[in-house]
Amino acid sequence: MKLDVNVLRYLSKEDFRCLTAVEMGMRNHEIVPAELIARIASLKHGGTYKVLKNLLKHKLLHHDSSKYDGFRLTYLGYDFLAIKTLVNRGVFTSVGRQIGVGKESDIFEVATEDGTILAIKLHRLGRISFRAVKSKRDYLRHRSSYNWLYLSRLAALKEFAFMKALQEHGFPVPNAVDCNRHCVVMSLVQGYSLVQVKQLQNHVTVFETIVGIIVRLAEHGLIHCDFNEFNIMIDDDENITIIDFPQMVSVSHRNAQMYFDRDVECIFKFFSKRFNLSFQENAEESDGSDAESDELGRPRFSSISKAFGFLDKELAASGFSRKDQDDIEKFIEGDPEKDSGSDDEESEAEQPISDDEGTETELSTINEPNISNIGSLCLLDKVNSNKTFTDMH
Ligand code: ADP
Ligand code: MG
Repeated sequence: MKLDVNVLRYLSKEDFRCLTAVEMGMRNHEIVPAELIARIASLKHGGTYKVLKNLLKHKLLHHDSSKYDGFRLTYLGYDFLAIKTLVNRGVFTSVGRQIGVGKESDIFEVATEDGTILAIKLHRLGRISFRAVKSKRDYLRHRSSYNWLYLSRLAALKEFAFMKALQEHGFPVPNAVDCNRHCVVMSLVQGYSLVQVKQLQNHVTVFETIVGIIVRLAEHGLIHCDFNEFNIMIDDDENITIIDFPQMVSVSHRNAQMYFDRDVECIFKFFSKRFNLSFQENAEESDGSDAESDELGRPRFSSISKAFGFLDKELAASGFSRKDQDDIEKFIEGDPEKDSGSDDEESEAEQPISDDEGTETELSTINEPNISNIGSLCLLDKVNSNKTFTDMH
């Protein structure tokens, strides 16, 4: 999606008033009646219609007159509200290039007043095409598209809360800076996704570090659930950073063992394929079920001593409640196909948002020339080349 922040610079106070009015109206209306927007925005001289027309022109709103004359926010409109709020808070002052696109997010560079480059992740639940979402469609069918925004907001809040908690426990994750609506602000990770890396100096050390992180996460009561080469970043010194946390679950989750084993398996498979790491059967190690690892050296979930209270205790501090967790878990379940690069059979043409015709397809079109396609993700060849930033003031 092209995030033309130049448009944002020229939006007036009235534009933002109306955009906010639509956002507020969407709490109980799928399509917000034009009169309600006018009432909430209460612009002088009845200027709402002119403003709505302008917002529509810039694709910040979607017009729907099938039942009555009304509007709803597009993801772009929601982006602008989040960016505006974060800029007003002084978190960053300008927005740069898109540096990544996941199935459920767009990642951009931003710059702070003192020139530090950070990353923002704009969550886009509902854009994705993996099976779990399809099976959850019923859950949302009778609810408004506000729920897609709501779920994206929850995903962002969850990611922010986890990133913060993990960082406090010494895990190699980006530094969580701030969060608003569906937007997480974090430090920019130098380096590449592991999927882009063809050779490593010390692949055994890197492998052991990564498996060690899975085990340590479980010891802290957590399972990543999407632990694969797309969500592991590595720099030139072969330091690892883990990203992408909206689907993490507690070790007390009913499918915890399966998720844990799947994360482990993903890493074993990847290292075996990409770096020819071989895992010899070791009969001695597999003796007895309380051995720490199985015959191929894979850590056993059952033999890890786990902390069960981590989620509630640590995450509530960032504003992510138990109810938020339950809400989002109903929707996001770790899916084996997700991010695995084997999703060709389900193209973006099969959009899960049946009530979002037009908008999502438009928004997910990527026009950046310097982004290359790698499997299901698009990533830059070099994170820091060719920076251009648009000042938001
Ligand atoms: P998704 O949940 O959609 O998979 P990710 O969090 O995995 O999104 O991000 C998608 C891609 O964006 C990553 O594979 C990575 O290349 C890039 N990216 C994400 N966060 C950062 C960051 N903090 N710094 C640099 N690149 C990042
Ligand atoms: Mg990812």
